[in-house]
Amino acid sequence: MFPQLAPLARTTTRLHPRPGSPAGNGSSIGGPLLWPVTEAWPTCDGPHPADGRPATTVEDVRLLRHLMTAANNRPAGDMFLTPQEQEVVDRIDRGRPWPEEPVALLPVAQLHLRDVPHLRMPDQADVLQVLWCPFDHPEQQIPRTALFWRSSTRLTEVTTAPPQPVAVQHEGYVPEPCLIHPEQVTEYPAPLELETGLREQVERWSAEQKAGAAPGSAYDQAETAFYQYELSVAPGWKVGGWAPWSFTDPRPLPCDSCGTPLEPLLTIASNEWDDSNHSWIPYEDRADATGDIHPDPARPSLVSIAGFNLQIYTCPTSPQHPHAELLQ
Ligand SMILES: [Zn+2]
Ligand SMILES: [Zn+2]
Repeated sequence: MFPQLAPLARTTTRLHPRPGSPAGNGSSIGGPLLWPVTEAWPTCDGPHPADGRPATTVEDVRLLRHLMTAANNRPAGDMFLTPQEQEVVDRIDRGRPWPEEPVALLPVAQLHLRDVPHLRMPDQADVLQVLWCPFDHPEQQIPRTALFWRSSTRLTEVTTAPPQPVAVQHEGYVPEPCLIHPEQVTEYPAPLELETGLREQVERWSAEQKAGAAPGSAYDQAETAFYQYELSVAPGWKVGGWAPWSFTDPRPLPCDSCGTPLEPLLTIASNEWDDSNHSWIPYEDRADATGDIHPDPARPSLVSIAGFNLQIYTCPTSPQHPHAELLQ
């Protein structure tokens, strides 16, 4: 339909995380990392401004998820939580005091080049490790991420029992261990990233598609929705591709080190899909996507950053230049 879009195509690797027990030497979301024994586990000194609520712990987050999954899967008519379970939930809800000490970072992703061949790596590296501090940081009110590029051939002696953070701010900042099922797809820029003439053509065409859309569906809400959500930018965890601009207009993100515009590296998503983008749901997940399934297949990692996407950007000149984070 739009030959002018062709040069803007970018390959994205959708990661399709699904709960599992990833091995330390594989690619994973929220799984164990190949961390050299000779290297101290990274920690964050903050600042972590208190939000007026208690913090929680990784252990309690996992226990609460376990209890709620069991409760949600009980037959109708059964007690949702037993009195003993309710006591545990109440104790978890009371939380733990806000930490004053440094916070150990949590593994978010380990990605091997063999699984994500489009990942831009520094020379010699073939593994990307992403960790975050599970507290909001004043700059953007999101977890602060740290990237480590590794060469797998040098990762021989690795840590088997990494430290856990003393506390986490939100339940959604604790990723459940997931295996990944990489799939390469083609993406195009969100409408606001297109030059005006092309954008108007795409918007007009997109609006025409509304004629076949069900009343009240997302297509009725904005002319660009069909192109933006169903055709151009894939939802969910992914590497590369285009940015899911949502509540701000697109803006350039220049590299702090060399000024080159940064490009999307990894999107950490709160949802694999929602009501606006059903065309991206994998065929094998479609039967479950509309059911009352616990845990929700649209949220395999149970990560939630206020329901949005945290996108990590790196410099195309060198992935080792400082990275940036953006919430969209
Ligand atoms: Zn921190
Ligand atoms: Zn740079």
